[in-house]
Amino acid sequence: FNVPIPVNEPVKGYAPGSKEREELLQAYKELREQQLDIPMYIGGEEVRTGNLMPVTPPHDHKRVIGNYHYGNASHVQQAIDAALAAREQWSQMPWESRAAIFLKAADLLAGPFRARMNAATMLGQSKNAFQAEIDAACEMIDFFRFNVKYMTDVYKMQPESLPGMWNRLEHRPLEGFVFALTPFNFTSIAANLCAAPAMMGNVVVWKPANTQVYSAKVIMDLFKAAGLPDGVINLVYVDGPEAGDVIFKHRQFAGIHFTGSTGVFNHIWKTIGENITRYRGYPRIVGETGGKDFIVAHKSAHAKEVAVAITRGAFEYQGQKCSAASRAYIPSNIWEEVKQHVVEDLKSLKMGDPEDFGNFINAVIDEKSFDKLAKYIDAAKNDDQVEIIAGGNHDKSKGYFIEPTLIVAQDPQYVTMCEELFGPVLTLHVYDADKFEEILEIVDTTSPYGLTGAIFSNDRYAVELATKKLSHAAGNFYINDKPTGAVVGQQPFGGSRASGTNDKAGSMLNLLRWTSARTIKETF
Ligand code: NAD
Repeated sequence: FNVPIPVNEPVKGYAPGSKEREELLQAYKELREQQLDIPMYIGGEEVRTGNLMPVTPPHDHKRVIGNYHYGNASHVQQAIDAALAAREQWSQMPWESRAAIFLKAADLLAGPFRARMNAATMLGQSKNAFQAEIDAACEMIDFFRFNVKYMTDVYKMQPESLPGMWNRLEHRPLEGFVFALTPFNFTSIAANLCAAPAMMGNVVVWKPANTQVYSAKVIMDLFKAAGLPDGVINLVYVDGPEAGDVIFKHRQFAGIHFTGSTGVFNHIWKTIGENITRYRGYPRIVGETGGKDFIVAHKSAHAKEVAVAITRGAFEYQGQKCSAASRAYIPSNIWEEVKQHVVEDLKSLKMGDPEDFGNFINAVIDEKSFDKLAKYIDAAKNDDQVEIIAGGNHDKSKGYFIEPTLIVAQDPQYVTMCEELFGPVLTLHVYDADKFEEILEIVDTTSPYGLTGAIFSNDRYAVELATKKLSHAAGNFYINDKPTGAVVGQQPFGGSRASGTNDKAGSMLNLLRWTSARTIKETF
């Protein structure tokens, strides 16, 4: 089990005038001017249906930068067949060979693929260069390298034996295929939802979000360049329910690796339940879902630190991180100072195209998301119970731009304090600084989710109290830090309650779900 000791990939700074910035900008401009033809990938073949769907950057939605070939149920069936055909050889391949492919993918991404993967993420998902770098480059590289190490940790889990016998655990791939159903917001998550089961010897059918197909193609190119055999990961672009209809009725369906919204996951879970007698075994259901992530400050907190956490924790990548803070609870004694800093910070943020590296805020992912956010913001504008103290403007004429918006609500149960909006909107409630315990109760019970949250305090008793009272309110809990930015190998990621099965992406806990152990006792 001698594998390279993983080290987190250093984040490039893209300083003005640097070679890395030039390379990235060049890749961005090249991709932008191309009409990329994006086929599906089934059994190693490029599949073109001619049913073309345009790819348009969210920040420039009239520009077509590529077309992807949309498929249907028959392509899902073909992808399952191709996966099952590849299964025997792949599942029996020595783990070192599987590991080598993903280590090579990491090295290729750290080198020649980096600029293209980042540029595709900037264009297709409207991420600025720095957000693309920590997602599409660093996190994806970390997932591959750390998971190789965690894979060996799984294989090392072995029982005791007495003289005269040898007991062992054989960590087998699942019997069938795994369905990777992936969201738009992180290129690295999409890659990992496929790579983690594949690394453990499983074959995969992958359906990305329609708004992520641009970088999905680059991920497939990367896997191919790293030597992944045909059919191990099969990529289809199909309507979600149509794909589900074929997948969840298939006898060989062995598990789903999902990241996306809670509503979709609930629907999938029910569908699997309805079909449970069809399957050979109980499928693995692994899902990371929605959140209503919080920042709660104690009266001992530093106002400036809280303000920085709000600006970065709520508004990076337009608040479209599952971990983004979307509700905050600030004690009355520090509120004026927090307000001054946040409003100043938000005014200084530039919004626009990712090509300009000075733009902190880019566009939200699509028109549906834009319209939903605009509706909540406009409702808040017309509601006497709340006040918008920063932002509030939106414009979709060129791109889906929503200003970072801060709503202050007197009622801690105001609608935008409870529901997941998934955009650059934070709702904040100012509470009586002496009622910390009461506010913790509200934080804990306001939302059904349990993904991320942060406590800011310089009083250790308050930290202890919050840690205890909010035990299940966040699967990733931060003390004196913003609730975003989990790093693979450092903060295993996943939420509880309505936020998912909490199988901690980028850890051994997740990889364990993609094996089925057989106990073997041999007597001598
Ligand atoms: P989504 O649920 O709309 O879509 C996820 C995937 O499911 C997409 O591929 C989509 O096409 C597919 N899909 C949608 N309806 C389906 C159906 N009925 N049957 C089968 N497939 C279907 O999510 P999204 O908008 O792409 O991503 C945003 C959501 O993801 C947010 O709720 C966010 O909190 C969550 N998220 C969670 C985490 C986490 O780690 N907990 C990470 C990232 C995103």
